[in-house]
Amino acid sequence: MEAQVAVKNQSKKNQKSIAVAVAPGDGIGPEIMDATLKILEAAGAKITTHNIQIGKEVYLSGELSGIDKAAWDTIRKTKLILKGPITTPQGSGYKSLNVTLRKSLGLFANVRPVKTYEPLRRSGAPKMDVVIIRENEEDLYAGIEHQQTQDVVQCLKLITRPGCEKIVRYAFEYARIHDRQRVTCMIKDNIMKLTDGLFHRVFKEIAQEYPDIQSDSQIIDIGSARLAARPDQYDVVVTSNLYGDIISDIVAEVAGSVGLAGSANVGRDIAMFEAIHGSAPDIAGSSIANPTGLLMGACMMLEHIGQFDVAGNIRQAWFKTIQAGIHTADIYDAVKSQRKVGTSEFADAVIENLDHQASQTTTTSERAKINIPFYNRPKAVKSLLGVDVFIDWQGSDADEIGDRLAKINGGSLKLKMITNRGVKVYPNGLDETYCTDHWRCRFGDMKIDDQGKKKYLDVNYDSVLTLLSAIDKAGFEVIKTENLYSFDGVRGFSLGQGE
Ligand code: NAD
Repeated sequence: MEAQVAVKNQSKKNQKSIAVAVAPGDGIGPEIMDATLKILEAAGAKITTHNIQIGKEVYLSGELSGIDKAAWDTIRKTKLILKGPITTPQGSGYKSLNVTLRKSLGLFANVRPVKTYEPLRRSGAPKMDVVIIRENEEDLYAGIEHQQTQDVVQCLKLITRPGCEKIVRYAFEYARIHDRQRVTCMIKDNIMKLTDGLFHRVFKEIAQEYPDIQSDSQIIDIGSARLAARPDQYDVVVTSNLYGDIISDIVAEVAGSVGLAGSANVGRDIAMFEAIHGSAPDIAGSSIANPTGLLMGACMMLEHIGQFDVAGNIRQAWFKTIQAGIHTADIYDAVKSQRKVGTSEFADAVIENLDHQASQTTTTSERAKINIPFYNRPKAVKSLLGVDVFIDWQGSDADEIGDRLAKINGGSLKLKMITNRGVKVYPNGLDETYCTDHWRCRFGDMKIDDQGKKKYLDVNYDSVLTLLSAIDKAGFEVIKTENLYSFDGVRGFSLGQGE
């Protein structure tokens, strides 16, 4: 289905209308989408909408991804999506459509501006005007999970250099063109030295290219606590996928309501705009939902396509409505509010507050586009230094498995240590350490260097295969292996706790 949003403004006749794929979504989605499109139309947005159906109905028709080919085709043609919230049905097999869209379409940056608006600020709540820029494609959201033993399941956290470079550069470019003063990086690299360590290292490298913008880094635990308590001290925050997911909801809630914030999911060619909240099944169908989150997402979309004046007019009209005390139920306050309204009435009030004069003289303006250079992988010297062999063993005595593996004749690779859940238990473990059935056994070919330190020698993959065959013959069940590499002489694996 197609619909041309009417343009009231005669002077804009020659402006190109921009095609947008519109997915109303589930729950309150259709209600807030109707309200949003009504406002966009009244404000003179120059867009042509192409309706697509994604979400619950598509899931329940047997499409486990929640999206069919026709919707993919429309999205790839328009390269622009305005999306309502989606309900992911409970039960295994259904993949999150939001994650699928973000990752499949390369929407690497999730941008969530969150601001407090005076009439809505709860008494004592801090003021804020923060933008959370969250990496959107990798981290623990890769969705690679395995049960390896009876006791242990694993989720892979993947952080890549190209991914870090894209998101960090995007954050600095965003700060520059939006006149923001500071970018704060949030990581947990005191624990995850390789993954979060890479994110932090890339942040510090790229920050040097932006001397006009202040930069600092915080560990995510204290960073998110401070962000909740003193958000006025933050400007732009850049972080990885999971941390960003959590802190962006925290700031939205501290600002007043998750119903108020919009977000952009931006890629090189395609961008998707939405509210940050979900499908609110508890109020779906009762016409009381606040359309603001989606409306703010739509304003970000208009700015993305250069229709700044239309977006500005809508934002101003929305603010006037809020200031006049016309509030939906989620933000209604018996003291501050004047009138409690439903979704559609709220949209009508915003439309009444539009500056129709402004709409008639509007022109498309330009803001610098953010262009992220493609990643060039430099050549590195990669050396194989050993292997971590993960074994499912039902015993509980670390010395028993250690002594048996130490005796295995597996060529040049010798047992160096064993950890259980990352803690060294062999040799010289502590009796107090609890051991599961999941044993990580590290093998390498070691020599003592001039300073008396143990050093890994280069090995080849044949020696790994010889070792694995010997372990198998000794009656152990190998559940996975992880090769130990160095890159340009720098160790590419973490040490065991206590190693
Ligand atoms: P939710 O955001 O839908 O609702 C949380 C609470 O906020 C509810 O009480 C709800 O009534 C209220 N609320 C949310 N938006 C509102 C609005 N616009 N106006 C007034 N009140 C509003 O979160 P949930 O209940 O955890 O999730 C419901 C469903 O939404 C789940 O299936 C979840 O997977 C999905 N979800 C989708 C998205 C998305 O599509 N981007 C995001 C989050 C959750």
